[in-house]
Amino acid sequence: MANGSSNGCAAAPPKNFEIAIIGGGIAGLSLAIGLHQRNVPCTLYERASNFHEIGAGVSFSPNAVQAMEVCHQGIHEAFEKVCTRNGWASKRKVWFDFLDGTVENEDASFSINTSLGQNGVHRAHFLDELTKLLPANKVQFGKQIENISEDSQGKKVMKFTDGTSASADAVVGCDGIRSTVRQIIVGASHPSARPTYSHKYAYRGLVPMDKAIEAIGEERAQNACMHMGPDGHVLTFPVNHGEKLNIVAFRTTPDEWDGGDRLTKSAHRQEALRDFAGYNSLVLGLLKLTEEELSVWAIFDLGDHPVPTFYKGRLSIAGDAAHATSPHHGAGAGFCIEDSAVMSELLADQCVQSHKDLEAAFAAYDKSRRERSQWLVQSSRRIGDCYEWRAAGVGKDFKKIENEIEERMGIISNLDLIQAIQDAKEDLKRRVV
Ligand SMILES: Cc1cc2nc3c(=O)[nH]c(=O)nc-3n(C[C@H](O)[C@H](O)[C@H](O)COP(=O)(O)OP(=O)(O)OC[C@H]3O[C@@H](n4cnc5c(N)ncnc54)[C@H](O)[C@@H]3O)c2cc1C
Repeated sequence: MANGSSNGCAAAPPKNFEIAIIGGGIAGLSLAIGLHQRNVPCTLYERASNFHEIGAGVSFSPNAVQAMEVCHQGIHEAFEKVCTRNGWASKRKVWFDFLDGTVENEDASFSINTSLGQNGVHRAHFLDELTKLLPANKVQFGKQIENISEDSQGKKVMKFTDGTSASADAVVGCDGIRSTVRQIIVGASHPSARPTYSHKYAYRGLVPMDKAIEAIGEERAQNACMHMGPDGHVLTFPVNHGEKLNIVAFRTTPDEWDGGDRLTKSAHRQEALRDFAGYNSLVLGLLKLTEEELSVWAIFDLGDHPVPTFYKGRLSIAGDAAHATSPHHGAGAGFCIEDSAVMSELLADQCVQSHKDLEAAFAAYDKSRRERSQWLVQSSRRIGDCYEWRAAGVGKDFKKIENEIEERMGIISNLDLIQAIQDAKEDLKRRVV
């Protein structure tokens, strides 16, 4: 549906505007690819000296996979190239098998299925494939945005910390959870300018699959599992075409994060084992496989203070910059790609030509995306607590936990993105006439 042809506007004249994208994570890259493939002029500005992702897994639900196809078929092909599904044919529709992590019983308490089951990728491998879809001249590295002003022609002027500047007709901040563009839009002192600590942290590891099979057996190592427990949960899924097992061990704490401004800190494996004392041999067996020096991730989100708007004039935000969420639905990155699909379609629409139209496109994007993505942030908090038997009215009742997950995963997975985009374009059309 690229270049939106059926919304009643006249034949598409070439675009004479330029979009600046700030940040080259999954949100910024997928948006740049979506725009470039629709002949919308854009440049991506990334503060690092190259594209980078951490050595960990990320999984995608059916809505995310559809968003890849809509954004650009090449993104979907890149994903298929690096995607790993559950190892057993009988588990192809299983998202996760849920187990009681505190008893010595290897049977699942229940399983949650989706139409595509589990789809895990190694982040860095996926990003490597994505970068191949964007010409090098569309990207500028070493550009950390500091502020944005407007010149006498109405162009947005971006000032970078290296003293340089660049201009564009509109700017999309895909600069992650600590977004500078969000701060510029809402004001540095607004409560949503900064994310807050969810009082959960996570140890992450990638371990060789043969070692994992030795430690916990084939069924649990080769297929995605969620080990539940009091105030903690451990999830695993295979990546690297089944050669590695991705492990993420979450813990809830009443304490504040002591890592200062950093979202990660290092810890010793012994600390993880202490945190999960009392869990069963599957959980402890998994943790013993991790490196001695582990990274711990603080889970921050925008749940306490949702952003009141995803745009202001011709500035907008997408991905974690707009709706950073805890990862308990495994959907944050997928929602980044949903954002990119909607934004690409709107900006490529033939109705969008002038500065005023660009603002209208951002308004239609805000209307289309804000409610759903802010729901995710709250739902993710709730479901993380369900996995840890902490959710009010649910506790350790496995039937209730299963029902909550089913219902919420349904809302995430069963989005009709094509319809959502059509609705957003109708909205855009009303705004530009
Ligand atoms: C433990 C954990 C597990 C997760 N698991 C999953 C999962 O299984 N499935 C899923 O869908 N999601 C998952 N997520 C969420 C997912 O990782 C994020 O939603 C997603 O990666 C955010 O992408 P982004 O592009 O918005 O931001 P980022 O990946 O943070 O990218 C932002 C980019 O902007 C750049 N940048 C920042 N500031 C500036 C600046 N001032 N100027 C220029 N550039 C700048 C950064 O260098 C970076 O490249 C998980 C998150 C965590 C913490």
